[in-house]
Amino acid sequence: MQRIGVLTSGGDSPGMNAAVMSVAKSARYYGLSLIGIKRGYNGTLCKSHNIEDDMVELDLDTILDIADQPGTYLRTARCLDFMRPEMRVHAANNIHEMGIEGIVVIGGDGSYHGAMELCELGVPCVGIPGTIDNDLAYTEMTLGYDTAVNSCVDDIRAIRATSRSHDRPAVVEVMGRHCGDIALKAAAGTGAEICIVPEVRWSVQDVADHLSRLVAGGNPRATVVVAEGAWDAMQPFAWQHFLRDQGVNVHDDDVFTTNVLAKVLKYKCHVEARGTILGYTQRGRTPSAYDSWFAFEAGNLAVNLLRNGIGNQVIGIKDGRVYYMPISEALAQKRDFNLQLYNMINTL
Ligand code: ADP
Repeated sequence: MQRIGVLTSGGDSPGMNAAVMSVAKSARYYGLSLIGIKRGYNGTLCKSHNIEDDMVELDLDTILDIADQPGTYLRTARCLDFMRPEMRVHAANNIHEMGIEGIVVIGGDGSYHGAMELCELGVPCVGIPGTIDNDLAYTEMTLGYDTAVNSCVDDIRAIRATSRSHDRPAVVEVMGRHCGDIALKAAAGTGAEICIVPEVRWSVQDVADHLSRLVAGGNPRATVVVAEGAWDAMQPFAWQHFLRDQGVNVHDDDVFTTNVLAKVLKYKCHVEARGTILGYTQRGRTPSAYDSWFAFEAGNLAVNLLRNGIGNQVIGIKDGRVYYMPISEALAQKRDFNLQLYNMINTL
């Protein structure tokens, strides 16, 4: 084997550059040349006027300079064209023409499906789970999750400081798509009193009752941490009707958001609840030591697998150690939500 490729795909996550750095270091060590494929699978389709905008020989010195930076030097994007079988054949031909004999794919479950398809077309791929969401069951942590949780903990602590000053509750929305793990760990890590996640059905009335009990018990500054995907698990509630009854101006096309939840709690619990959506700060932080360590070991293992002719695998963490398993088996695993921790947060 003489040449491999690396790409980052889907949403960015802290640690992607560190993983590319590790791949680059390992490739240099084993005497392999390394092609950086730009903007996820888009680069494999070679649609740009200049090939360097799609695939470029990676210079280790450049990568070393940015290894500790958040974001991804290779850029990332979704690629709808890649969902079409004939475009994937085109991509595989381009990859073969460039002399690339294996690819390290850094991305989430969608990117893993793309990697599996490329394997079927004769391009061995190894996946590294680059996503803050922690939504892949086969690994204890995805790359970027630890950094995202730490980012939330920093921000929620700051919000709790002003909540304390004003004796008013806060409702804080964190990311994670359909997975409540960021919310769960961020809530546990800050002593937040209420946590709402997509994995557990919940009702606004229960949250309001809980908050009212906290306030009556002497805690008017409680924090509600809500996962961005939690609205799907909310029991139906005629919130527009409720808010109009309180004299609030509500439009028919308004949607239920964190700020609306804060407003509903304000009237139900008679408190000055304030909503904050933490948003993309969670994706743009400098990778934690844990994520940088994982990226380092995962990048090296990925290159070693490809060198040894082992493709169609993904890398994860099990019992605190980096390991690998077939992509299809990894994707078939069901996530095990930590209900015990959820109950602990919401009942203590
Ligand atoms: P993530 O990798 O973070 O889950 P997406 O689900 O958006 O992000 O997937 C990233 C990219 O992976 C998509 O834009 C597409 O190019 C590719 N992809 C996703 N699903 C498939 C699939 N079933 N077959 C082939 N390619 C896919």
